[in-house]
Amino acid sequence: MATIFSKIAAGEIPCYKVAEDERYFAFLDINPMAKGHTLVIPKHEVNYMFDLDEEEYAGLWAFARKVAMALEQAVPCKRIGVAVLGMEVPHCHIHLVPLQTEKDMKFGNKVNVPAEEMQAIAEAIAAKM
Ligand code: AMP
Repeated sequence: MATIFSKIAAGEIPCYKVAEDERYFAFLDINPMAKGHTLVIPKHEVNYMFDLDEEEYAGLWAFARKVAMALEQAVPCKRIGVAVLGMEVPHCHIHLVPLQTEKDMKFGNKVNVPAEEMQAIAEAIAAKM
């Protein structure tokens, strides 16, 4: 069965899309720990990141870097924090989190961002890509 992230990348489940190319996709985390919290995935469904082959693994991080550079222009922050967990959704993904302080990078933190603002943030990041 397809993962929820595969369904998002296929457009079957809505998301706040940030960017995509043929192989990778980026969208806002629905429960952001900070404004602009973005997830980057390979469209190819693989659970554990280190099961990606070297070429796809390198491509994922190169795509994430482009997204991070756009994200830090679109969302005021000191830097972009990066994490990989994968304890919840079995489709590998990179968390990109705009940080003001290290406390912003805390799993379990939730900031309430209204839908219109989520949409505006996604569009602002996309415009910097
Ligand atoms: P983890 O697998 O532990 O890295 O966490 C999965 C992340 O995916 C969490 O931060 C969730 O808030 C996020 N998430 C789960 N479902 C969705 C969704 N439908 N759209 C966007 N983000 C999601």
